[in-house]
Amino acid sequence: MRYPAFLQRVADLADVQPARVLTFSINGQMVSAREDETILTVARENGIAIPTLCHLDGLSERGACRICIVEITGSPKLSPACVTLARQDMEVITNSERVMDYRRKILELLFAERNHVCSVCVSNGHCDLQALTIELGMTHVHYEYLHSKHVVDASHDRFSVDHNRCVLCQRCVRVCDEIEGAHTWDVMSRGYLSTVITDLNQPWGESSTCTGCGKCVQVCPTGALSEKGKSISEMTKKRQFLPYLKMMRGEEKT
Ligand code: SF4
Ligand code: SF4
Repeated sequence: MRYPAFLQRVADLADVQPARVLTFSINGQMVSAREDETILTVARENGIAIPTLCHLDGLSERGACRICIVEITGSPKLSPACVTLARQDMEVITNSERVMDYRRKILELLFAERNHVCSVCVSNGHCDLQALTIELGMTHVHYEYLHSKHVVDASHDRFSVDHNRCVLCQRCVRVCDEIEGAHTWDVMSRGYLSTVITDLNQPWGESSTCTGCGKCVQVCPTGALSEKGKSISEMTKKRQFLPYLKMMRGEEKT
């Protein structure tokens, strides 16, 4: 039956069902979760660490980097924990040799794809990618380097982007869209040719949408986005504003 608009809204609200609670295991430990929670969220709620790169608390999930892959018993493929929802009775393994091996391979491919010479990077010592290599024990790159050459755009008054350091996590795209509301960043091309762009691929300094807030710089996990005037290893990132903004908008789970 169709009601008048305002009554329909009440009827729709009455139809809202609370999310079901599920139980499943992570590394043999029984956990409970709402059916709309991801494996990553549940693992972290239960003190089980899963490494991530494109994920950042306060931003939507993209499942772009695949560092958070986990094994699910019965499934031949590995699944990204950040975008895989909990299911009743699933058995998740986060730290098997196979999982660790694939995570290291993904990291190696990122290093082979672009230029990540840490010793001459503005984020040396403050870089999520570098920290992951240490955490996961990656010591060598077993793949041929692509030696791809990308531009450095220093046209913005206060910031610069070095596409050679970009890992295409899209944190900049999401924070600019979801938190700042400017949607200056986007992604152009496909595969390893993908590049983050400002507006319609024009120099950042000529962007008519950028407010100069610097949020994208602060969430970038590598030295790809940096503040001008920072020398090698000086570029520390400040990400504390994200959970705060999320809380102010009433999006934090209670
Ligand atoms: S400085 Fe702010 S508005 Fe400009 S691109 Fe970065 S996040 Fe978007
Ligand atoms: S510029 Fe930084 S935040 Fe943006 S996609 Fe590249 S690595 Fe990620």
